[in-house]
Amino acid sequence: MSIKLDTIVKYSHRNGFIFPSSEIYGGYSAVYDFGPLGKLLKDNLVQAWRNWMVTFRDDVVEIEGAIFLHPKVWEASGHIGGFSDLLVEDTITHKRYRADHLIEEAGIMENADSLSPEETDKVIQENNILSPDGNPLSSAKHFNLLVSTHLGPTVDESTVAYLKGEACQNIYVNWKLVQETSRRQLPFGIAQLGKAFRNEITVKQYIFRTREFEQIDLQFFVKPGEEDKWYEFWKDYRYKFYTEYLGYNSANLKFRQHEKLVFYAKDAWDIDYKFGALGFKELEGIHNRTDYDTKQHSEFSGKDLRYRDPQTNEQYLPYIVETSLGVNRLLLSSLFEFYNEESVADSKEARIVMKFPYILAPYKIAILPLMKKDGLAEEAHQIYTNLRKKGIIADIDLAGSIGKRYRRQDEIGTPWCVTVDYETLSEGTVTIRHRDTMEQLRIDIEDISAYLNSETFAEF
Ligand code: ATP
Repeated sequence: MSIKLDTIVKYSHRNGFIFPSSEIYGGYSAVYDFGPLGKLLKDNLVQAWRNWMVTFRDDVVEIEGAIFLHPKVWEASGHIGGFSDLLVEDTITHKRYRADHLIEEAGIMENADSLSPEETDKVIQENNILSPDGNPLSSAKHFNLLVSTHLGPTVDESTVAYLKGEACQNIYVNWKLVQETSRRQLPFGIAQLGKAFRNEITVKQYIFRTREFEQIDLQFFVKPGEEDKWYEFWKDYRYKFYTEYLGYNSANLKFRQHEKLVFYAKDAWDIDYKFGALGFKELEGIHNRTDYDTKQHSEFSGKDLRYRDPQTNEQYLPYIVETSLGVNRLLLSSLFEFYNEESVADSKEARIVMKFPYILAPYKIAILPLMKKDGLAEEAHQIYTNLRKKGIIADIDLAGSIGKRYRRQDEIGTPWCVTVDYETLSEGTVTIRHRDTMEQLRIDIEDISAYLNSETFAEF
């Protein structure tokens, strides 16, 4: 049975993963905050991506670019002229909708975002598509997604600044500086985690589509002619990030090729993920971008951004293969992927277990004293503090029956629970229980961190 989005929304709220922004004021459309567990999970997901894309490789470096870039960057990139969706307006309520979404939701075609305004109007008329309120729609018009503000002493045209519409532009404009200062030769990649802002119009799918989000990107620079080989490599490597590193079920992932390409792209595929009852939707994009970005920025900046091959002295603009993933979408996919409800023999309530792999679990271990009295709470606290000082994010829970506490930790995906009992005081041992097998083992207190470390580094 497919998990409903509402189940995930409630789960995330109840356990402090995700809250609507400014909730006490009624929330703020398509903006979300991450609570203590959401923040830990988000960091772990980004760290997993970093391990896979940067740390495990010798041909990728990571940078961190500012949110503000020179406004010319957005001219050069085409965002000021062309970063737009086609919108239609309800002629009665004046609410606006993305035309491609209305066409897709009506089941008329997939990939309706490849239609021109004229084609969009035709499809809407021929199929008599109305607004969600049942009213006629206006003709389709472009709507720019860039979010702008003013930087400087005046508020006029000269001080307009844009918040990044996509995170990766810092990589393109800095590419040569990074290559030279890190003494890299082609092929090599630049990775980045960066904020992006889009004035999205269709925003009803929780953190799937937000107006502020983070992207984790790789831009891989290659010699012209080698881009197709590398494109295939990165498609495969990205897919394995989910199936081999994070342990996603391959049945929940599928590649989808873009039907109509933006003019500069040679090829573009998305990895779609099955977000439970929402069905398959875009998780990340992998694009064969040619030399469009380096060429545009060379032209607009007047700077020579060509690479000089140290062996042949040949000079050329590199081609770029891009992989781009939204952290919110990755986080949402991980909640769908690892959420489980199991029936328990002696209980009417389902056992909710978040089967996060160790690297993603917000808490790696929870310390549960059997009783608060007789020094058990103090001993538990000591174990907890010692683990935290070793960098292991542990939780401690003193409230309720031991069964209830196991349930709580299962629900938030803590892989290990340790109970502290009278034998702990006399023998220096604890019982360690695994979330998935529920098997219990008696080990020495000193061995806890080694036990966990063997998991962290088990596979890679
Ligand atoms: P969509 O078609 O869903 O609007 P896109 O094709 O415009 O997405 P890209 O510009 O290719 O997306 O961005 C790369 C990645 O960034 C996407 O695959 C997605 O994971 C993420 N992303 C894009 N827009 C959003 C958003 N509004 N909220 C959250 N993540 C986003």
